[in-house]
Amino acid sequence: MEEVTRKNKRTTLERADKFISPIYFKDVNLRGRLYNQHHPLKALTHHAARGRIPYDQAVRGKFTKTKIGQSFGPTWSTHWFQLEIEIPDAMKDKEVHLLWNSNSEALVWHSGNPIQGLSADYDRISFPLSTVLGKNETRCSLYVEMACNAILGEGKDSMIGPPNMDKSFTLSQAEIAVFDREVYDLIIDIETLHDMAKHMSEETERGYQALYTVNQMINTLDLDNRETYAKAHQLAERFFQQKNGDSQHVVYAMGHAHMDSAWLWPYAETIRKCARSWSCTVRLMEKYPDFTFTCSQAQQYEWVKDNYPGLYAKIKDLVREGRFIPVGGTWVEMDGNVPSGESFVRQFLYGQRFFMKEFGKKCTEFWLPDTFGYSPQLPQIMRIFGIKRFLTQKLSWSLVNKFPHHTFWWEGIDGSRVLSHFPPGDSYHMTGKVEEVLRTVKNYGDKGRSGRSVYLFGYGDGGNGPSEEMLMRMSRLKDVDGLPKVQQKTPTEYFADVEREDSGNLCRWRGELYLELHNGTYTTHAKVKKMNRLCEFLLHDVEFMSSVALVQCVSRNASYKYPTDELHRLWKLLLLNQFHDVLPGTSIGMVYEDAHQYYEDIVSTCKRLFLEAIGENKKSDSVTLAFNCLGWQRKEVVTINNPSGNPAKKQRKSLDEKMVQHDREGNTLAMLSVPSYGYSVLKPLKCEKPCSIERNSDGTFVLCNEFLSAKIDNMGRIVALFLDGEERNAMSSESGCYGNQFVLYNDVPLYWDAWDVMDYHLETRKPVVVSIKEAVIEERGPLRVSLGVKLRVSDQSLIQQVISLEAGCPYLRFHTEVDWHENRKFLKVEFPTSVHSMSATYEVQFGHHQRTNHNNTSWDWAQFEVFGHKWAAISEHNFGVAILNDSKYGYSTRDGVMRLSLLRSPKSPDKEADMGAHSFTYAVMPFQGTFQSAGVIQAAYELNSPLGVHTGGLDKSSPESNSFFSADNPQVILETIKKSEDSDKALVLRLYESFGGHTKVTLKVNFDFKDVKRCNGLEEVLEGDTSNDLEVKGNLITLSFKPFQVVSLLLDF
Ligand SMILES: [Zn+2]
Repeated sequence: MEEVTRKNKRTTLERADKFISPIYFKDVNLRGRLYNQHHPLKALTHHAARGRIPYDQAVRGKFTKTKIGQSFGPTWSTHWFQLEIEIPDAMKDKEVHLLWNSNSEALVWHSGNPIQGLSADYDRISFPLSTVLGKNETRCSLYVEMACNAILGEGKDSMIGPPNMDKSFTLSQAEIAVFDREVYDLIIDIETLHDMAKHMSEETERGYQALYTVNQMINTLDLDNRETYAKAHQLAERFFQQKNGDSQHVVYAMGHAHMDSAWLWPYAETIRKCARSWSCTVRLMEKYPDFTFTCSQAQQYEWVKDNYPGLYAKIKDLVREGRFIPVGGTWVEMDGNVPSGESFVRQFLYGQRFFMKEFGKKCTEFWLPDTFGYSPQLPQIMRIFGIKRFLTQKLSWSLVNKFPHHTFWWEGIDGSRVLSHFPPGDSYHMTGKVEEVLRTVKNYGDKGRSGRSVYLFGYGDGGNGPSEEMLMRMSRLKDVDGLPKVQQKTPTEYFADVEREDSGNLCRWRGELYLELHNGTYTTHAKVKKMNRLCEFLLHDVEFMSSVALVQCVSRNASYKYPTDELHRLWKLLLLNQFHDVLPGTSIGMVYEDAHQYYEDIVSTCKRLFLEAIGENKKSDSVTLAFNCLGWQRKEVVTINNPSGNPAKKQRKSLDEKMVQHDREGNTLAMLSVPSYGYSVLKPLKCEKPCSIERNSDGTFVLCNEFLSAKIDNMGRIVALFLDGEERNAMSSESGCYGNQFVLYNDVPLYWDAWDVMDYHLETRKPVVVSIKEAVIEERGPLRVSLGVKLRVSDQSLIQQVISLEAGCPYLRFHTEVDWHENRKFLKVEFPTSVHSMSATYEVQFGHHQRTNHNNTSWDWAQFEVFGHKWAAISEHNFGVAILNDSKYGYSTRDGVMRLSLLRSPKSPDKEADMGAHSFTYAVMPFQGTFQSAGVIQAAYELNSPLGVHTGGLDKSSPESNSFFSADNPQVILETIKKSEDSDKALVLRLYESFGGHTKVTLKVNFDFKDVKRCNGLEEVLEGDTSNDLEVKGNLITLSFKPFQVVSLLLDF
């Protein structure tokens, strides 16, 4: 009898590992047998393309002979190759592959269509020729489009380093060979058994069963005797056929290719990445009928539609079959913090409408695997687009606290709930390996509540997606005793199963999903944030004014065409730039060249469209008018530009000189009253309560108006801030405390340079205390007083500031210009308030959200830097202080000190990020009562949307001042007025409750309309809806609101 051999676990494991190793012992192991009978190409020629040119143009290029070993470059260039292939007789009837490795990304073309992507990074270097060859065909001609970049860009010193722009790429392999599928199967068997033996718990014997099986397979295999192959495979099959019990966790596997619309590569490269990735997916689907693939971002579908119509047609067929699954419903996977409420709405509006038009269906789940925090308003936005399900996973990156759930109800600030799932494998590029499915179950935070989870497989970030290897691995894991059941499913199947089986067991998370990492992204690339805010307001203004022009022209039978196509184009540019690596400021410099070009396009086109709307609107005599694009009456100091541009020449002689003030540029300041969403002729009002400025004997200045008085020192810092007639100083009176104190921090993160500001930066606070030019009075009233000051931040960087107070304005404004040339420094401005409170409030999309003002728990102190929009406030009973801004998103409030984050200076992935000139405005507003009753919300809108003065026309019949829309309750903000997407005789009005309470509002519409109904985000009428008690009387529309509710109305005229 043969004695049983004792086994050492480590050597047995490593034996199996080396038997399939692509590196070691390949001359004698199984992997070495995967490809054989290598044969050269018949001919190989090359054409260096000028840029990313289309196929038709490329094939007309001049191709010259080239060979293996040749190098091509530089980075981001494109090279086309023509390949002549002839299969020799010895390879006939075998599975022949093209093996192509240009150490870059590449795409195989045949007969004018992209056939399959290739990428050296993920070892996707083989292309089965049967894809393009008929049964008895032995010759073909292919093109390969080589993109001179790796899948994750070309970071010089690290992945996220600025790109090496001058790299060359060597063609190291270009040949055909026979692929041995039997060997391939055995490799997957051995790998899976090895991984089970390695990663399964020692507490069960299943891992050892795998170990002994794989060992026996290797003993059975004689690589020179093919008969042993089948015997070895049978050993594996017998093992994989041993099934689980019914209670085993089920992994819902879905193919995915997380595709950043731009990141370490420009937008133009993403278009090609889509073709490379999705063509691979289509090829796999032809072979594997149960393979499902989830794919988000309407923009990427549109790119493929426009650039690769043949591929797109195939995708459309697969979408119809329910295997290529559009998910998400948004235009791009956007940043989850910075876009405005209306931007969020448009992401879904244009995304869902695209999916409906192209594929006849809406997405049923929001899909945002990779963003840097999640606004507490997102659940409501999803719900108004009919989406009740949400998938993400980024929260697993939190640095301090582990988020407790993977399957749960997420509840937004208005109480809207969505069923949410985080794939617990903590990755959106799984590869079908045993270790990953074990991790999926081990990590799962809701064990016992829901026995299922999602598993997204496929290479991601730069695309690429699932490979055949992954599908082969998962085919072994369908139901193997000891492992979770891994089944190819769809998102709908997953969520429907949870809803049906588990929904009553799930916990609830209310409010923000805060990511405890990447919180520098509220500030990085300040100009991108500024342009995003500006464009959001400009598009708003154009839509309002164009809507008015449309209504008036319809009523007068005049001709005015609402600029639908242009507005769609502009919105889509803005939405694209909100992608989760562009708006956060975490892309390479090339991306921002494109992004700023798009912003310039939006700005200039919006300015033209606005003028066209008011020109059409008010014909005949040219009259200068002031326009108010906000939903309440405003009495404000307006700047009327000097058209001559000559500072000496005062203009607007027609205005009463006693009523106006002139600034240094010769512009005229006048106090005007303009009604809600309307206009008025320039009729300056008498300033009843002028503002004033004085210099004290101690060198400080006092700026006063009817609302407040501020004492400011010669460096522009607030020594004291009082509400009119009150003795209470809004700033802390502790010595050394100043409002408007600039502070500089060292800002060196652990790795993610543009992304992260770490907790320890707070320990490096350095006040900016060197002035180059002490404060001087620049304007003395009566409408505006101002002080100018110039400070030195460092040897390289300067701040120039104008501190101003206007008559009738409740806040002190700081117009700030910074010349910024720092390296890993973070500039903030601080306001140490005297307010006693446990929390501070920050504006978010269509509402606001509270966060703590202390560091009690790890959840509190991990939020040392948070996002907010146009304002943040800290309040105690009957008193508070708010900070307003025109382009900033990073805040921190601790122990009553409010800080607004201004500029960062990371060097990766864009070494020029934030270098150079910046200009922005913020303001401080002390208030009595609550921030709601004091008008903080309205003031922040006003700071961002000054009354505009334009020369239009006015009919004799037109009134001198007119309001097109108004509301009788400041609690409800009429945010958006636009033409309906589906009708030229309907407008959509979007309103939201901004205070956080129940209320009723009456909206006055200053023209005749036929009907008004509630609609959803997609502008579909909600038939029979009575939830808002909508009533119409003449031109008045009354409706009720719940806290933070967003309501859209469809107004037929
Ligand atoms: Zn991403």
